[in-house]
This record gives sequence, C-alpha cells and structure tokens, in this order.
Amino acid sequence: MRVIPGAWRRTAAGAGLLTADGVPAPTIFAEMSGLAARTGAINLGQGFPDEDGPAEVLETARAAIANGVNQYSPGRGLPDLRAAIAEHQLRFYGLRLDPERDVLVTAGATEALAATLLALVDGPDDEIVVFEPYYDSYAACVALAGARLVTVPLRRPDFQPDLDELRAAVTDRTRLILVNDPHNPTGAVFSPEVRAEIVRLAHAHDAVIVTDEVYEHLVFDDIRHVPLATEPGAWERTVTISSAGKTFSTTGWKIGWLSGPAALVDAVMAVKQFLTYVNGAPFQPAIATGLRLGDGFFTGIADTLQRKRDLLGEGLHAAGLEVFTPSGSYFTVADAAAIGATDAHEFCRSLPDRAGVVAIPLTAFVTAARREEYASLVRFAACKRVEVLAEASERLRSLAR
Ligand code: PMP
Ligand code: GLN
Repeated sequence: MRVIPGAWRRTAAGAGLLTADGVPAPTIFAEMSGLAARTGAINLGQGFPDEDGPAEVLETARAAIANGVNQYSPGRGLPDLRAAIAEHQLRFYGLRLDPERDVLVTAGATEALAATLLALVDGPDDEIVVFEPYYDSYAACVALAGARLVTVPLRRPDFQPDLDELRAAVTDRTRLILVNDPHNPTGAVFSPEVRAEIVRLAHAHDAVIVTDEVYEHLVFDDIRHVPLATEPGAWERTVTISSAGKTFSTTGWKIGWLSGPAALVDAVMAVKQFLTYVNGAPFQPAIATGLRLGDGFFTGIADTLQRKRDLLGEGLHAAGLEVFTPSGSYFTVADAAAIGATDAHEFCRSLPDRAGVVAIPLTAFVTAARREEYASLVRFAACKRVEVLAEASERLRSLAR
C-alpha cells in the first residue's frame, strides 16, 4: 500500500522511530519493557516503581470511585486538586498561584508537554531549544508541532550545558526553551548559573520557558530543587509542568498539571481541551491528598531513592561500568565502553541474554548527529525494590567476569 499521508511520519521521524521501511517503531520504553517481559529479565529500563505509593493516596482514589466520582471532571481539573497544586507551589517554593486561573490539570506530564508545544508553536520558522539527551516525547512533539528542534548537548561527567553553547542556540527565532530539571535521562540538576542564563536568554530573545519538573521531589545529597519559575523575572514567561506519577508512585494514573501566568495557561487550555478534554476523575482527589501529605513523606521518598541510587551505582561499578552519579531523578547513566559497548542500543538488546537485566540506551534520546557521542552510554532505573536492585547488581557482575 502507498505511504499513508499525515503528521505521523514527521512525528515518528522526529523521535528517531521511522524505520528504513517507513514503518513507525514503538518507543524505546515499549521496546525494552517488551524485551523484559519476553525474557524475564529485571526491568531497569522504563522508569516506573515496583511498589505502591502512600496508602492515603490509594485509599482516597478507592473512596472516590465508591462515592461516585466517576464522570467528567471540570475542564481545568477538580477545584480541590487545583487548590492543592497551588498550596504545594506556595509551601515548597513560595510561588503564589491563583488556582482558578494559573493551574491546569492534564493527562500526565506527557499531555501537558504536548498541549503546550502545540499551543505555543506556530510553524516551521519557530525553533524550540532543548537539552540533549532529551526525554523522548520532546523531539516527537516538536516535530508534530511542525517546528525545528535545536539542541544543546549535556556532556559527561556532570551533564551541565556549556553556557556558550546555550547562548549560541537561543536566537530571535527561539519560540520556546524546553527544560527538564531534574533531568531524565542523565539525573543532572541544573546549576544556579545555568538557570539564570536560561532566564536571561528567554528575556533577551522574548522566548517562553517550558520546564518539566516531574522529578522535583527526587533530588539527592541535600541539593534543593529550585523551579525555574522562581528565578527573578521568570514567572511571567514560564510554563511549569509536573506530574503525580513519580512523586506518588502512580505512573499508571496519568495525573499531571501545569502552572503559569493565566494568559499562557489559557493558551495551552485552548489546545488541551481538544486532546483529552479531561481525565482520571477519581484519581484527582487522591493526588490532592498526596500533595498535602506532611514534609516527612517528601523527604522520605528522596532519602529512599538516594539509597537505591547508591546501591545501583555500586552494582554498576562492580560490573565494570563507569558510573555518573545523578543528583536527582529515577535514573543513573553509566558508560559501558569499558565492557565492550560501542552501540548502546545493541548492548541493551543483548543485556537480557548477557546478564538478565534490561536498560535503556542514551542513543534513544539524542539526534542522529550526536549518536556517536552517546554511543556507549546506558540509563538504568533505580526506582525498584532494594532486593530487586541487589539481584540486578549480582547479575550484572557477570559482565565484569
Ligand atoms: N517528563 C519526563 C522527564 C519524564 O521522565 C516523564 C516520564 N515519567 C514524563 C515527562 C511523562 O510523565 P507522565 O507519565 O506524567 O505523562
Ligand atoms: N518516563 C518514563 C521513563 O523515562 C517512561 C514513560 C514512557 O514509557 N513513556 O522511563
């Protein structure tokens, strides 16, 4: 059959998922979770926890279903969830939001990102600056929106951008600067200098900042998460995106949100309401409960994940990999060059056979032009039970032998 016309092709191609035969390939997460399911390997690939989150959150969802919260929620999200999001931004960051106008509940951070890009980008002359490697949906959505992706590399060992390269990437053609902090896949937390420069450049070139902060509560080593929107002069031009998935171990619920000045939120709403309209009614009160949990919960999840990060890091080190210790997020990047990896994707495809573990190649998160540079780097997820990480570490030792 002839090629089916449509935006799907540039979307798949943008994500590096259009095969030589012109067929769309599944995402790296679908591929690697499929591989784990087929082989029985331990899945340190796709980032989802293997334990439930707080009982109060789960119980609130059960009660909501039992009590008839089963129909469409209001278009911008349940008012009590929007209030809880505003309270959360004030409590943790001192940001004062109007829950009626400055907050929008979305189907995960994924929909927030897609709606924001589709809403704020307008054609092939618009450039979107992203840091590379990038979360897979960024390049796909930039392509779907018909805009041009401009990347700024994050290099080992600390995965901070070079400020001169950042300055060179942002121009008057830049419509959006898309930031992810804490960063997936590298685990980097951007330095104050990088944050300040992003805001300065956005002002200088009249760009909007879109910041994906889904790992906001998963930051280690006494580093504090500082939302870009709190930088001086940033609020008025920043859309901040987050999600309940990582914080409350509810990745399957797909409750996310964005916040920012009303005019930007209204613009995104104009698109979002025709993507899903609304989603997840009974999960919304549950996430409101979660956002109002005591400080101990939030410090507890960071402490627990930090210990898991350390355990995973020791395992990777013992397996002969060079480990880049992350400052935040679910993930640790390691260089497998020392144990023979020259093509991270091939390495990850063979890892179940070699060691009974699944991981994600960083090459899935970069443009074709930079594949070489990241060709031996692999991402491992630490958001698994301690005994699972210990077993994975034991298995990975076979690589060093
Ligand atoms: N952004 C980043 C950086 C992510 O790692 C993820 C995956 N959790 C998402 C967005 C998507 O989040 P959600 O599952 O809420 O759509
Ligand atoms: N955010 C998850 C990760 O980076 C994956 C989400 C997905 O499968 N799209 O592993």
